[in-house]
Amino acid sequence: MANEEKIALTGDRPTGKLHLGHFVGSIQTRLKLQNESDMSFYMVADIQALTDNSENPDKVRNNVLEVALDNLACGIDPKKTTMFIQSQIPEIAELTVLFLNLVTLARLKRNPTVKDEMKQKGFGEDVPAGFLAYPISQAADILFCKSNLIPVGEDQLPVIEQVNEIVLKFNSLYGETFQKVKPVLSQTTRLVGTDGNSKMGKSLNNGIYLSDSYEEISKNVMNMYTDPKHIHVNDPGNVEGNVVFTYLDIFDDNKKEVEELKEQYKKGGLGDVVIKKRLIEVLEKLIKPIREKREELAKDPKKVMKILEDGTKKAREIAKETMIEVRKAVKIDYF
Ligand code: ATP
Ligand code: MG
Repeated sequence: MANEEKIALTGDRPTGKLHLGHFVGSIQTRLKLQNESDMSFYMVADIQALTDNSENPDKVRNNVLEVALDNLACGIDPKKTTMFIQSQIPEIAELTVLFLNLVTLARLKRNPTVKDEMKQKGFGEDVPAGFLAYPISQAADILFCKSNLIPVGEDQLPVIEQVNEIVLKFNSLYGETFQKVKPVLSQTTRLVGTDGNSKMGKSLNNGIYLSDSYEEISKNVMNMYTDPKHIHVNDPGNVEGNVVFTYLDIFDDNKKEVEELKEQYKKGGLGDVVIKKRLIEVLEKLIKPIREKREELAKDPKKVMKILEDGTKKAREIAKETMIEVRKAVKIDYF
């Protein structure tokens, strides 16, 4: 069982188009890993998206194409990365059911990611059971294809920890079957939203999207949170917690000039509009080629769905093999 094969897996919930947080938090690592690992998977997590969108299946369905387009536009290459749809691999659901027995309710409620997201979504005790248990289904997403490298943002680290607990428990009960998995963090593990609060999130209305037009980028940057005390150009300004500088630090290649601008801003004499205009150009340079490639790909949605269909077939073959092994281990291989 133990092997040195590098198998990468990541995914997105089809709950909206992807934003800069996805790009720096996960997509850049996905791109690197699709070249460096032996196998690479990309999953559209529609079943996970339904755990808190069960009343809105149209939203989930429509966004399957959107997240696939975003990833393809960024350079995910279907020849190197198997792109598939979670719901179309029933073996993942079967594996989830078996894993459900290995985790307690108390442990699920303690998961800091789930706790945070439950608060954010206003669930109390009325949380859908499927949502509370999504880390278990995520373990099945990761393990059905024996992947071991998982590019994620910081918010997902507690989920990966829980996956590894499931690996240990499964192996100790039923024999060595799965390997521990490793989260792969990028340089920017959590990109703040344009409002300066929390993380940029599809469901939080504080994002700059990889499909945004120049006008949309400009409008968003112009409304960005800076330093509320920096009212007149000559006032000394704060660069800590100032979203424009946070973004310049991450996205502007000219670090030296950014440092000089920071010094000037701190002393006073540099207006918000100047740094915002600079940021607009920096982001436009990054987003323009992605947006243009996306527009091109969006002209042929059938072709994109075919990529997902082919990838799903391939992933399913692997899932079937894993389940033969799993059923044998759990002693439910009757016929
Ligand atoms: P939702 O609000 O529906 O949960 P989301 O914006 O959190 O959407 P996901 O599809 O849940 O997006 O996340 C996909 C991947 O992108 C995950 O690995 C997650 O950690 C990462 N990610 C999402 N937002 C950020 C962010 N602001 N900074 C860094 N990584 C992020
Ligand atoms: Mg999320």
